[in-house]
Amino acid sequence: MLVSTLTVIAILCIVTFLLIREHANAQQAATRSATTIVQLINADVLRTIELYDLTLQGLIAAARRDDLKQVFPQIRHMALFDRSTTARFKGDVLLLDPHGQVLADSSAIEPGTGSYAERDFFLEHAARPDTRMFISPPFKLQCECELNGEWRITFSRRISTSTGGFLGVAVASMRLSYFDQLFNSLDIGTGSTLSIINADGILLAQKPDLENDAIGKSFAKRPNVERILRDGNGSFDSVSSIDAQRRLYTFARVGNLPLTVIVALSGDEVFGTWKRTAIVISGATGVLCIGLLWLSGLLCRELRLRRHAEKELAQLAATDALTGVANRRILDLTLRHEWFRAQRSGQPLSLLMIDADHFKAFNDQHGHQAGDDALRAIAKVISDNVRRPADMVARYGGEEFSVVLAETDSAGAQLIAEHIRVAVEQLPFAAGVESPVTVSIGLGTWTTANDVSLEQLLFAADKALYQAKERGRNRVVATP
Ligand code: GH3
Ligand code: MG
Ligand code: MG
Repeated sequence: MLVSTLTVIAILCIVTFLLIREHANAQQAATRSATTIVQLINADVLRTIELYDLTLQGLIAAARRDDLKQVFPQIRHMALFDRSTTARFKGDVLLLDPHGQVLADSSAIEPGTGSYAERDFFLEHAARPDTRMFISPPFKLQCECELNGEWRITFSRRISTSTGGFLGVAVASMRLSYFDQLFNSLDIGTGSTLSIINADGILLAQKPDLENDAIGKSFAKRPNVERILRDGNGSFDSVSSIDAQRRLYTFARVGNLPLTVIVALSGDEVFGTWKRTAIVISGATGVLCIGLLWLSGLLCRELRLRRHAEKELAQLAATDALTGVANRRILDLTLRHEWFRAQRSGQPLSLLMIDADHFKAFNDQHGHQAGDDALRAIAKVISDNVRRPADMVARYGGEEFSVVLAETDSAGAQLIAEHIRVAVEQLPFAAGVESPVTVSIGLGTWTTANDVSLEQLLFAADKALYQAKERGRNRVVATP
């Protein structure tokens, strides 16, 4: 049972280890494919923003040329905005003066009169001499035009003098539907999401929309986003704070830009196959282990029953069926064993031969059943008078019994024999049985002084019994 319990524990350990490893493998494979998706998005976004940046740089370079101020407005317009046509999802591209007034507009040859002096990107460039590209938070355009209400972001660069003075701003806007179109071209499976956030944790795009009106909101306080912004690149397994679904988040910064792409693969998608396999394997292992324990339990029970039966059988083979004392076979074995033991120890060994007197007559008078009862009663009296563990009572045959008395000299054995004789004589018998049963006892003893053989010892006890019979029965005779 212990072995099968250990086997079951070992099987459970191995299966658990394999399932944990398979879980890690599933996560690893999912992270790898998510990383590929992140890289694809990053490459596209980088390329697109690079085109916007080229447009801005072209606009700035053209704006610096004095000769363009003399040409026709149409030609100047063409020179300023020639590269901007290539950018996808492009909104207006503007050239602003240091006061936020529009100097040139890609959508009109005659620029409008609006001021951009209060816009976040303008304030940023006016305040800082940094000439790097600025990406604004998402905003919605407030105009009567056809694209009103669409989310956008702007890319802008400061135009500086050679000494760092503020000359104005070149700005291009992009519709955020660019990200939607990009995300829609990628299949990520149900329950998974694609998102892009800026450095302040503001959501620029998401597929599918988990929350209404989430674009433009800051998620910087959400634990997952906080971790993503802190780590920049990486992957982790977490529960979404929006829909409480477990997802595997893989994320990376877009080049050096303040944008982060997040691929959140659904836990069901990533671990679905593993879960099904785990259920099947756990079920099969459970059934196997229960079966194993049940079988070994059965086997143990069978072995126990068999041991019990064998013990009973051995006892039956050693005892006399009628009286319950040892049988002749065990008497021979014990007598031989004790005789050799006496040889070694030098301690005396006595043997009693007990025979019921006139038992044939007893049987004839009271019947065979009463005779059997009398034999059982005699066996009990003998056993009760022989108390040391090494001593042994056996039925020698018919109405004869033998007692082996280890480490007992002739005097001690005579005392025991006398006790037995008297006790048998006093046995109460059933009603109607008047004459009591008596026994004659012959006694032989081995001592270092006589040093008789085993056969001689048996013969001596037999001879003593014969003498007891001859001298009138119901007595004890010891060989001299
Ligand atoms: P003695 O005093 O000389 O020993 O006379 P006895 O009649 O006892 O001796 P004998 O050897 O002539 O007879 C033995 C009788 O013991 C024969 C048989 O009826 C009886 N006997 C032997 N075995 C059993 C037994 O298992 N059950 C019963 N009821 N009687 C038995
Ligand atoms: Mg006899
Ligand atoms: Mg007899």
